[in-house]
Amino acid sequence: MATRIATDTIPAASAARGGTRAGTVRSFASYRRQRAAKALVRLIAAFMAAAAIIAGSLFGLGRIAHWGPFAPGLPEAAYSADSWNTIVVNRWQRIPDDWPTPELTQLANGQRIDSRAYPDLQRMFDAMRADGLNPEVTAGYRTYDEQQQLLNDKIFLYENDGMDEKDAEAKARLQVALPGTSEHELGLAADINAAGASDSDANQRVYDWLAANGWDYGFILRYPEGKTNVTGVEYEPWHWRYVGVETAKALHNSGEVLEEL
Ligand SMILES: [Zn+2]
Repeated sequence: MATRIATDTIPAASAARGGTRAGTVRSFASYRRQRAAKALVRLIAAFMAAAAIIAGSLFGLGRIAHWGPFAPGLPEAAYSADSWNTIVVNRWQRIPDDWPTPELTQLANGQRIDSRAYPDLQRMFDAMRADGLNPEVTAGYRTYDEQQQLLNDKIFLYENDGMDEKDAEAKARLQVALPGTSEHELGLAADINAAGASDSDANQRVYDWLAANGWDYGFILRYPEGKTNVTGVEYEPWHWRYVGVETAKALHNSGEVLEEL
């Protein structure tokens, strides 16, 4: 502010020192032009600031309208150090703030999984390969931001299909978890498909094998058919969640999902 006052006064001061009448008039005119230019710059700056605030608010409101409840508004899932692999995160309870970033093991294709789940995953893949299948983890660990991007993409896809925003979001939310609530962010989930497959039969053979044997390796079909009202997610034959062999066996025998444990 002090600097602006100082520069503002310079033309006036030099005009006063100018002496001749013509010089004073010219200086005064240039002073006015300068003032007008500055006022214009300030006006543009104010306009841009206002536009930024309005755009920011609309974007913020749009986000709220778009996403409904934010994950941070959800209660945290309970867990203890020895129940790390049975933590229940879903659309009603999120990953706790103190959930430690998992130590991850990177697979050959670049996907990652919690290192504590890796030995059983490897054992399971060895068994599948021995049975003539060629499975691949197509999605393992995801960050919060990657989860957000996935959800955005899915909503966009449905909107492009002609759904209105509300329906597109509702449909997407049945298939993609809200960031902060995805098991992929835990590092304990693996989407398993046939390697490089666009062939639905090859995928189906992998799903069938997993449905019959996954529990024996500590993995459960997390979102079975007919349990959407309990899990909050539509049937996903490819999504396998590591819970450890003991819990997987118990759930396999009872036919329950993790929420019912
Ligand atoms: Zn998944």
